[in-house]
Amino acid sequence: MTAVIQAYRFALDPTPRQRRVLASHCGAARYAYNWGLRLVQQRMEQGRAGEDVEVPWTLSKLRREWNQTKTQIAPWWAENSKEAYSSGLDGLARALKNWTDHRSGRRRGRRMGFPRPKRKGHCRDACRFTTGQIKVFPDRRHIQLPRIGVLKTHESTRKLARRLEQGTARIIAATISRQADRWFVSFTVEVQRHIPTGNGKAGVVGVDVGVRHLAVLSTGVVVPNPHAVQRSLRKMRRLNRELHRRKLGSRRRGQTRRRLARVHARAANVRRDALHKLTTILATQHGTIVVEQLNLAGMVRNRHLARALADAGLAELRRQLYYKTDWYGSRLVVADPFYPSSKTCSACGWVKAKLTLAERTFTCEACGLRLDRDLNAARNLAMLAEHVAQSGWETQNARGADRKPQLAGQVAMKREAGGPGGREAGNAAFRKDAATRRSAAAGCPSASPWSASAGRDQAATVW
Ligand SMILES: [Zn+2]
Repeated sequence: MTAVIQAYRFALDPTPRQRRVLASHCGAARYAYNWGLRLVQQRMEQGRAGEDVEVPWTLSKLRREWNQTKTQIAPWWAENSKEAYSSGLDGLARALKNWTDHRSGRRRGRRMGFPRPKRKGHCRDACRFTTGQIKVFPDRRHIQLPRIGVLKTHESTRKLARRLEQGTARIIAATISRQADRWFVSFTVEVQRHIPTGNGKAGVVGVDVGVRHLAVLSTGVVVPNPHAVQRSLRKMRRLNRELHRRKLGSRRRGQTRRRLARVHARAANVRRDALHKLTTILATQHGTIVVEQLNLAGMVRNRHLARALADAGLAELRRQLYYKTDWYGSRLVVADPFYPSSKTCSACGWVKAKLTLAERTFTCEACGLRLDRDLNAARNLAMLAEHVAQSGWETQNARGADRKPQLAGQVAMKREAGGPGGREAGNAAFRKDAATRRSAAAGCPSASPWSASAGRDQAATVW
């Protein structure tokens, strides 16, 4: 049994009074965040002017400052749980750390700017509870949060309640959040899971995440986009036009805005659901799954809705596969970002110089192969795994053995991190491991069709 941090998210059915309390807690978290940010900026100013002041950079320091001044600046503080203010300050402390880590080169990925103030209606409404009365009731329809009290859930909490009753789960924290006009609670739970070393399947599958389809598999299976997403896209365009016709600050504009938010939320839900179904099948039915690398650092901010959705889809697919391959004992291989999966011929290895997005069919000028572009890419990805196995790379699940439970709140961040550097810095065993793998990659025969990427420091990362 291994302890794994897992989230359980349930939609809520709050009463109108409870809605106000939920919103108030999120507002309190935002207030504390903005207050802390102003304080930090002020102290930095004073420091620059030569004054000897301490800049509160950590959660404990921020919390101390807040407790000293809260009665003067926010005499209403007792209306909300103290966890709300702590939650806001925690968010600020993390943002400040991300910024310093990025500046000192300790953090990979996207550029991290200095934290900016949160604006009501423009930021995510959320608040996290880490202490106090957090409960899931055995009737599977109610939960309890500190200060907010008993809330009815919109769906059954069966999956979590069952684990709690069996004693294989422990709640670490609960986060309330709002999406469109619906409230959710997400429990961060330490779950005891049996992690197998393999799922008994030998097959390799390459997955190409597309725009036209949800995914194309190297086996030839085309997983279509859910129809609901296409319909939502049309609705979004219409509502967007409607929104821009409405007068600023009018009641009708507010109405359209809420409707648009609901359509967005529904599209995201449908898509996530489809991805969950796909990743579970992939992780249980195949021994090895190969996906493309995300263009993490230079993630293009593009204006095309469909393209942006596909990018988000790839990120979500990888995030889900990352932990599901662990749970079910399969292996995930992530191709090098420079590996030309779309431009390479899956039959002879010839590499096309240029392939535009509009070209839907791949035509090989060397052997005459004509194949659907996405299928060709998926086949190349699958072949990469075989190549990886031949060059003596570890073929077992690389993570199963020495997994440690991740700390609360760090779950999403770690899964998003791109390469070996994204893992815990203190995990020396892993670093050594990564180094050996890299040298194995460097020894790739350069005559292989993968020579284009073999010169780079690694062709793929095995998780
Ligand atoms: Zn060819």
